Amino acid sequence: MKLSIIVPCYNEQENLTSFYSETQKYIKNLPIVTEIVFIDDGSLDGTLSILKKLANQYNDVKYISFSRNFGKEAAILAGFQYATGDAVILMDADLQHPPSVIPTMWKYFEEGYDQVIAKRNRKKEKIARRLLTNIFYKFANKLVDVTFTDGIGDFRLISRRALNAYLETNERNRFSKGLFSWIGFEEKIIEFDNYIRVNGSSKWSFKNLLNYAIDGILSFNNKPLRIAIHSGLLITLFGFCYIVWLLINYLLNGVVAPGYLTTISTIIFLGGIQLLFLGIIGEYIGRIYYETKQRPPYLIKEKSFKEQ
Ligand code: UDP
Ligand code: MG
Repeated sequence: MKLSIIVPCYNEQENLTSFYSETQKYIKNLPIVTEIVFIDDGSLDGTLSILKKLANQYNDVKYISFSRNFGKEAAILAGFQYATGDAVILMDADLQHPPSVIPTMWKYFEEGYDQVIAKRNRKKEKIARRLLTNIFYKFANKLVDVTFTDGIGDFRLISRRALNAYLETNERNRFSKGLFSWIGFEEKIIEFDNYIRVNGSSKWSFKNLLNYAIDGILSFNNKPLRIAIHSGLLITLFGFCYIVWLLINYLLNGVVAPGYLTTISTIIFLGGIQLLFLGIIGEYIGRIYYETKQRPPYLIKEKSFKEQ
């Protein structure tokens, strides 16, 4: 049996060597062959040269290097496409995903689970942050068809047959969290403690996270478009009632007030709603635009192995 570990790396020079040695601690005792595929996602620091060094030194290390930064989703895809194992594990390079979980994951894989998902608990996080994430997940799950669970990220083991299913989804705009859930298969969730990143910094800014959330919601269904229709109907109904009320008022009392406030608030309110939903519709059209271009999701500058 062979296990592939897929590691997307963007500016991770401080972490790679310790990532390799930490991981070895836990996989060397398993009765399996391993390969570690690092994907250098167009890093600007010494990541690629360290990967080259590691690949020279250890023959279970492979690397793929992109021509520029294509984003973590593209790196995940490349890693999955080049992995040769009977199972793959996706991990971050910053050791926030503890390698100590690997043997347990493998155990459940041998028991027949197709996806073994490591769930981070938020014990070490601030209450405010925990609360916010809770609200986000409640909200997101109302909007999409697949289920997102808090603390479940990309750290997981996937069997060969589940991986092949994943690779059959060929959309360009990839949202892995949703795709993993969409493919289904037997799942097992295991928990681990959350670790704070030791070296380097997180690549997610608030704007990134917001865009990520929008991607997640939009790539999984067209419910937002339906909300547009529903609220459009509702507002029209209210508008109609309001006009009837105004007419009755006019018949009973004649012209009373100039009605500045109501006019202006209606315009602002409707204008806002229209802009919002135009934006949503635009997003979907934008997605269609990107999909039809059929551009490759990433471009490889160099890699440490021949085409398989
Ligand atoms: N990463 C990547 N491409 C990017 C951004 C991040 O390959 O454009 C990698 C990064 O090197 C790390 C993983 O994705 O291995 C998770 O990134 P990060 O630690 O910044 O995210 P966080 O843990 O804060 O969610
Ligand atoms: Mg991290």
